Order: sequence, then C-alpha cells, then structure tokens
Amino acid sequence: MKKFIKYLSFLLAFLLIIILIQFNFDYIYSTIKKTDYLKRQIDICCTWGNQLADGILTYEINNAKPETKKLVISAINYWKENIQGIDFKETNSKQQVDIKISFRNDNGKVAGQTMTNFDSDGFIFNVKISLAEKAFGKQLNKNVIEYIAKHEFGHALGLGHANFNESLMSSLVYHSFNEISDCERESVMEANKWKLIDNDSSPKISKIKKSFC
Ligand SMILES: [Zn+2]
Repeated sequence: MKKFIKYLSFLLAFLLIIILIQFNFDYIYSTIKKTDYLKRQIDICCTWGNQLADGILTYEINNAKPETKKLVISAINYWKENIQGIDFKETNSKQQVDIKISFRNDNGKVAGQTMTNFDSDGFIFNVKISLAEKAFGKQLNKNVIEYIAKHEFGHALGLGHANFNESLMSSLVYHSFNEISDCERESVMEANKWKLIDNDSSPKISKIKKSFC
C-alpha cells in the first residue's frame, strides 16, 4: 500500500509538471499572438512615377449617371482633403489620363476593381478603376458605391489591403469602414515618399512594403 501511495504521488507530481509546462507554453504562445494581432498595418503596393512630378494626377469618369458621378467626385475630394501634395484634376482631354474610372453595366460579380499599369522602371504609369451601380444582381446603394470608390482610389494611390477591419483598406468590404485615418494617410505618403515627403525631382520606389499604424 505504501508503495502504491509513493507511486501515486510520483505520478501526480509528474502530471503537475506537465500541466505547468503546458500552461507556460500556452501563456507565451498567446502573448505572441496578441502582439502580432496588435500590429495593425496596411500593405504598400506601388509608387507613382513621373506623372506625379508636378503634384497633379488627372482623372476621368466614364459611363456614370450624374448622381453616381457625384459620389465618385466626393470620394476623390475626400482623398484630396486628406493627402497634402497631390491635386486631383478631372480632364476630358484625349491626352494621357492618370486615373481612368468607369462604370460597367454587366451586373457582374465585381463591385469595384483597380488595375495598375507600370512603366519599365516599376512605377505606376496609369490606373484603371472599374465600379458598378449593380452587382450580384442588386442595385448598390449610394453609401456603398461611395465607399467602394474611396477604397479603390486608395489602391490607385499605391495602397494594398489593411490587416484589420477598422480601415477603409480592409479587404472585407461588408465592414464598410468609411474614413481615411492617419494610417491610410501615412501609408499613401510612404508609398509616394519621393514626392510627398522628400519632394525630390526624380521618383524612387518605396522600400517599405508595410506601413504600421
Ligand atoms: Zn481592395
């Protein structure tokens, strides 16, 4: 019997040590996870080249109803108010347009899409944004169209997606987080640092690929 009690207490001590190790491990593991989660960041995709040298990016809006066009202009103006150093100007000229925005009426599965074209040095050469008034068989409401226009315009300025939901650049569209915060502002500045921060005369690709906020 004594032997058995001795054996049992050994076993209990052994189990206790295992539980303690496990607990410790879980604790360390969850701390790592927590700090990782706290690192809010926005991916930086690309940098504008010579088109931004004069501080002006031109745009045109095609195939939009007048009231829808207003939503897009208001989205662009919102960026204009928030980013110092870039002026966005509407143009109707047949010359090179920097940002082409068009609405498609195919009632498709895409409510917004941005295609970026690069020059041979890897700088943004021009951008095509597709928006829709209807998607997934439904008419999109004004707030959603304006939100998507803001989000896509963020891509046009060199941003990728955010890793947290409370961002205009979140990839989860249904969160519809509508505001430009310091995080988006600083990421655009970082993407186009050569012009917006350093005010250099020749473009330099952003070395930073993630902007922490
Ligand atoms: Zn996106």
